[in-house]
Amino acid sequence: MPLNRAKTGIYSQDMDFFVSAPAEHIKKQRNIARELRATQWWKQKLGAGICYYCEKRAPKDELTMDHVVPLARGGFSTKSNIVVCCKSCNTQKKYYTPAELELQKLSSRETE
Ligand SMILES: [Zn+2]
Repeated sequence: MPLNRAKTGIYSQDMDFFVSAPAEHIKKQRNIARELRATQWWKQKLGAGICYYCEKRAPKDELTMDHVVPLARGGFSTKSNIVVCCKSCNTQKKYYTPAELELQKLSSRETE
């Protein structure tokens, strides 16, 4: 899913790195996420019990809701941006975008 940078409005063309989204954006999207948590859609995802990133099965209490593009990076609480994530992947991921995670994977492969 390509991130439409112009649409999120938080990226400057010169500084293509960490630009934190406005607190208001994060607050609003967190509220939407909370509502999604109560839906059948989310319960089904949790019920499947598989982490989006490592694709391993994990017990329900080990699974968290994760935004593929973090809210702090201008992501939205939409069904396409929310995934089930195990605790260890969530800790590793932090504020990185999918593209940055790919780059990290590539560079760690090079040093192995
Ligand atoms: Zn995982």
